[in-house]
Amino acid sequence: MLLADVALPIPLGRALTYSVPAAEAQRVVAGARVVVPLGGRRVVGVVLGKREGEPPPKVRAILSAPDDTPAVPEELLDLLRELSSYYFAPLGDVLRLALPPLERDLAKELVQQPSLFDEARGVGARKVLFVEPGEGAEPERLTGQASALLARVRAVGSVPLARLEERWGGARSIVKRLVAAGALKTTMRDAPEVPFLRDGGAEPDVAPELTAPQAAAVESIVGALRAGAPKTFLLHGVTGSGKTEVYMRAIAAARELERGVVVLVPEIALTPQLVARYRARFGDEVAVIHSHLTPKERHGMWHKLRGGKVTVAIGARSALFAPANALGLVIVDEEHDTSFKQEEGVRYHARDMAILRAFRARGVCVLGSATPSLESEHLVRTGRAERLRLPERARAQAMPRVETIDLRRMGPGPTGDRRLSLPLHRAIEATLAAKEQAILFLNRRGFSPSVRCEACGKMESCPSCSVALTFHKRRVPHARAEREFGLDHGSGTLRCHYCEHEVRLPDRCRACGAPALVLEGLGTEKLEETLKTAFPEARVARLDRDVATGRAIEDVLAKVRAREVDILVGTQMVTKGHDLPHVTLVGVVNADAALSLPDFRASERAFQLLVQVAGRAGRGDAPGRVLIQTYDPEHSAIAFALRHDVDGFIAHELVDRKALGYPPYARVVLLRIDATEEQAAREAGRRLGDLAREVAEPGVLVLGPAPAPLARLRNRFRFRVMLRSEDRAALRRAVAAVERRREEVASSGVRVAIDVDPVQLL
Ligand code: ADP
Ligand code: ZN
Repeated sequence: MLLADVALPIPLGRALTYSVPAAEAQRVVAGARVVVPLGGRRVVGVVLGKREGEPPPKVRAILSAPDDTPAVPEELLDLLRELSSYYFAPLGDVLRLALPPLERDLAKELVQQPSLFDEARGVGARKVLFVEPGEGAEPERLTGQASALLARVRAVGSVPLARLEERWGGARSIVKRLVAAGALKTTMRDAPEVPFLRDGGAEPDVAPELTAPQAAAVESIVGALRAGAPKTFLLHGVTGSGKTEVYMRAIAAARELERGVVVLVPEIALTPQLVARYRARFGDEVAVIHSHLTPKERHGMWHKLRGGKVTVAIGARSALFAPANALGLVIVDEEHDTSFKQEEGVRYHARDMAILRAFRARGVCVLGSATPSLESEHLVRTGRAERLRLPERARAQAMPRVETIDLRRMGPGPTGDRRLSLPLHRAIEATLAAKEQAILFLNRRGFSPSVRCEACGKMESCPSCSVALTFHKRRVPHARAEREFGLDHGSGTLRCHYCEHEVRLPDRCRACGAPALVLEGLGTEKLEETLKTAFPEARVARLDRDVATGRAIEDVLAKVRAREVDILVGTQMVTKGHDLPHVTLVGVVNADAALSLPDFRASERAFQLLVQVAGRAGRGDAPGRVLIQTYDPEHSAIAFALRHDVDGFIAHELVDRKALGYPPYARVVLLRIDATEEQAAREAGRRLGDLAREVAEPGVLVLGPAPAPLARLRNRFRFRVMLRSEDRAALRRAVAAVERRREEVASSGVRVAIDVDPVQLL
């Protein structure tokens, strides 16, 4: 009998076997989706393989096979299997990441109406109303909505009205008014051919002449693409060196060779400008994958990629699974970014898997960064990747001058606040006087990071998490509290940044009752307020998760680009790859915050942040200047950042990692244990630790259990056991043994997650 092994998108460790009806035999091939019975349900699974054999007892038959072409390309299916095994994640869960979204939850409908797979049911060509900037000047006294909408249209050039309406309820009437005033105009045009390409026509760009290092890098990559053998490159280029141009030339070459391309970027919402650059070069050949897509758009996109009608997929982490046809090139931009690691469910690292995917597809992987991760550096040093250097900025601009301000010695500036030192204050003044722009980076959102009682010394903390509550002066429009507790705008609240907990700021300490609560520390909200007072003539904007999520981020950045903002204050959102030519001053308000994290990568992270944020300065014609405020100017992360000495830092840090037995020399696996009962979590941790020690071979170090640095999160107590070894195979054997027996040790209500190559250690 003809049998098929089918993986199902349920957390099941193994595939199930079904018989293949003769009528479907042609379509049941590896990677194809099939509808199968499972208990009383019907679910969609993916065929792993087909074989002749003795049917197992009570074998059930595949109901239908809707795919003309297998949904999952073979190369991707291989990757998913390896990913599943590497991360100890059920194949079913892994498959969910890669299956086209529309049908995933719609198995039933899928049986009733297989036409869901019909291209014809996608969004066809139709006329829609596009909004574009008009000739007229910006009318005076615009409402906040109207000015945001106008800024957006000006930033993107052309956008369907429907898109604006998604964001602004009153978009239609605002547009009418702005059209009447001449600031906007509208035209009827064909709906974008590919519905997932938002924002209409980006102006086609002209490729610049490459600098010599860019040309050399492109030549190496294109050579490897032509050779058709797998290869990994580390494109190590200083900030502003034009890495994107190198990627784009490589993409063009891959397309000529009729190979598909996947581009991974850290966070699509934070890099609208970057996406626009790809769109300007490749137009509708680029599929932008992001979380705002409707299921229908996702479905359309998925088919166009799979069918090879669109050859370039760009997106954040999950774009790793884009079903690019004949994949030949995978690019990981800002490869050091921690967002490439998924921190829940299947805890995969998209950078590591990108290398693997390219390898399996016999393609080329390009990792790019100004501050390579030590892992990627290690690949180069061990001969598994080739380094390509861009040592200078693309238009030969000087690197910004970086200085530290030693807060131990430096008194407060005119504001009286120590955290706005005199040199930083003066530098801001000078920047404003020169009509240039400044970015101030502070890695703390909210007004005050903590609130303490001066009578008993207790901090106000979250009832569900072991963290201090942050004081926010202004309400956040989308916060749950507004709906649930009817908190009004303007009232200050205490908020937990890990769960949704939010309360009005109490009059008295909730522990001792004394009316002695004081606000401690500085957050971006307060910094913004301080700057507005200190520089009343300056236009100050803020970029953090409180003011901007999703597409609102673009609006803030558009305003900065349009020079409607003089000082931009923000969290690490401001450090990402923004190319803002009029920013000449970057101030790091508190460099020490990132250094004190309980993480063996704290120093690496801090260094990357400093170099990246510094890299926002001086990208245009005027030279840039960077001021780093710190209590610890001798710290290696700061000292090397001061000299832009990336190689020096890496060499220094690698010595420490080797001595301490940490990645990239050794590998780490965390067993993460949590439960609502502290005792249950602790006990399970103890048993897992014992079990790990029992099964571990010599050379595998087992540490813990220990409470996680964030000991309680959303009412669950958290413990962890760390396994570490330079012997990767021995480490895997130990984890596999623990995984097989974890049922023995975990009582009910205790969750155990295996985190291979953990990134976030909290
Ligand atoms: P990176 O990503 O390395 O920080 P970008 O790719 O953002 O750098 O490039 C920085 C700036 O230099 C961009 O404005 C880009 O358009 C410009 N640029 C890149 N390559 C060239 C070139 N060969 N000639 C002129 N300008 C270039
Ligand atoms: Zn909380």
